[in-house]
Amino acid sequence: MKRRLPLVVYLSPVVIVLVVGLVLLIVRCSEAAAPTVGLTAEAVLVSEDGGAIGTVAFRQTATGVLIMADIRELAPGGHAFIVHEVGACTPDFRAAGDHFNPTGGGHGFIHSTWKRGESGGAHGGDLPNLYAGSDGAARADFFTDGITLDTGPRHSIFDADGSAIIVHERPDSYGTEESDTGDRVACGVIQRT
Ligand SMILES: [Zn+2]
Repeated sequence: MKRRLPLVVYLSPVVIVLVVGLVLLIVRCSEAAAPTVGLTAEAVLVSEDGGAIGTVAFRQTATGVLIMADIRELAPGGHAFIVHEVGACTPDFRAAGDHFNPTGGGHGFIHSTWKRGESGGAHGGDLPNLYAGSDGAARADFFTDGITLDTGPRHSIFDADGSAIIVHERPDSYGTEESDTGDRVACGVIQRT
């Protein structure tokens, strides 16, 4: 007489395959989330009269994006410096849309209740202010984890409509009060290099 094996004996290979499959899936997902170190991009900034006044270079690192600005012909003093949600500077700088905001957050990256990268966190495109010297030149490097140069993650600046970087007339309050940064004085579409 044939003895029936317990059900678990038949099921255990199935369980093993499922577990191995799940582990492989998790490993693949975590690999996909790792940034591609070394990706680069650049924006050529133009002023309101259309002339080129500098460049902003972007470099992907393992933990965020290094942003290097080299700009001339600005009014001396502080200027909000922000990644905007659309890669367009024409017909005017309004074409760049609002601040890049992949998590549906609020403006101002030092606001105590907003943590970047979480739903409702600060805008991914918010950056520290840029300061121009008395000669109108500004050179500054920034580092941010609010954006990525990889395609795919929700904080990718290379989404369907791209992104732009904008220099505003006045400095940003960082969200400590209603921000009035005035006109958009320079704009550049961010493009892969
Ligand atoms: Zn903002």
